[in-house]
Amino acid sequence: MKYWFKKTQEELKTIVFNALNNNANYTTQNILGIPASHLNEDVFPLDAAFLKEAPFMTSLVKNPNHIGCHTLNKSEGYFSGTQEIEKELIALCAVDILKGKPLEHDGYVASGGTEANIQAIWTYRNYFMQEHQATLDEICIVCSEDSHYSMDKSSNLLCISNIKIPNAVEDRSLSKADILAQVTAAKSSGKKYFIVIVNMMTTMFGTVDDIDLYVESLKAVNVDFKIHVDGAFGGFYYPFSNEENTLNFSNKYVTSFTLDAHKMAQAPYGTGVFLIKKGFMKYVNTEEASYVVGQDSTLIGSRSGANAIAVWMILMKMGPFGWFERIHILKQRTHWLCKQLDDLAIAYYHFPTSNIVTIKSAFINAEIAKKFGLVPDNHLNPKWFKIVVMSHVTIEKLMLLIQAFKHGVIPKV
Ligand SMILES: *Cc1c(COP(=O)(O)O)cnc(C)c1O
Repeated sequence: MKYWFKKTQEELKTIVFNALNNNANYTTQNILGIPASHLNEDVFPLDAAFLKEAPFMTSLVKNPNHIGCHTLNKSEGYFSGTQEIEKELIALCAVDILKGKPLEHDGYVASGGTEANIQAIWTYRNYFMQEHQATLDEICIVCSEDSHYSMDKSSNLLCISNIKIPNAVEDRSLSKADILAQVTAAKSSGKKYFIVIVNMMTTMFGTVDDIDLYVESLKAVNVDFKIHVDGAFGGFYYPFSNEENTLNFSNKYVTSFTLDAHKMAQAPYGTGVFLIKKGFMKYVNTEEASYVVGQDSTLIGSRSGANAIAVWMILMKMGPFGWFERIHILKQRTHWLCKQLDDLAIAYYHFPTSNIVTIKSAFINAEIAKKFGLVPDNHLNPKWFKIVVMSHVTIEKLMLLIQAFKHGVIPKV
């Protein structure tokens, strides 16, 4: 570990309060020109007593704006104190979680996985246009059918088509023959540049795609490609549940990553993490953002510095070993659940080491789905219902579902 060391609550407090003190202070300094301030003081008093013990709440009240990307050379100086925390968070994710080399990545805390995925696809689209004079109809996205709908949003917004590779019905895997066939067909219809999305745990099934199938196929067809990994669900889970996996920055074909801290890391909403190898942010820099120091290479514009602080605090409070233990517990609970379903001969899908169990709809009636908050793949015509083993999904709660299956009765709780 290079950046990730467990810290006490006192240490976290000191670091966050120092960082906030290194930001501009609207109360004590004369800051007349920026359209920003602390939170509305009539509703959120700056001197509320509990704030002294609450670094995250204090950062909300002080409301630093982390507009722009701070791993690049220049940023707004007004918020440089808390930007340092975001920079450390980005380095921690790229190096200590995703096995990149230090100082080789840029990134920022995006509004979520959707924004981070669009940011990646936008970057590669512009890269192909600027470096290879590609036209829009020569560029396409390639992803699996189980991929998140943010790929469809990206395709729509960025005016590039989206090729979807089917997932096998039973094991949700991808076949090299399918990828080869679709890429070959796309090439004959004029596509030359491929933006590939590899999933690190899909939303519905928790499947991790085999990146080698894509790399081998695209090389065989001899086309140019860039790979983005969508770890919105799995980014804070899979690197810990399957330590030997190599779907990370140690793979030379991986140039960027999405991680969502507001899913498995239980951070506040607004904490998608976008990571990309250095040298690519320039393709989405908006020079017209001339009033922002360092301009703006992000999709979102203004964003809350408190979000980065929340994610950093969560990771630092747990430390890497605490995080491993946490994921290990979820993995064990998921195994317990799978064993119970096996005993009851209930058909389900479970990707090894994942914490999602997706049950075939034939075994679920509407009453059970509603009672236990099971989520269908499709609300109109469900084929599957999923259980996501989060920290609040304890064995005691899972046991009630198992009893309902066993006795065919819905327990009253
Ligand atoms: C949730 C999710 C997203 C989108 O994330 P938001 O934070 O909801 O924007 C993207 N990809 C996958 C695999 C997801 O599970």
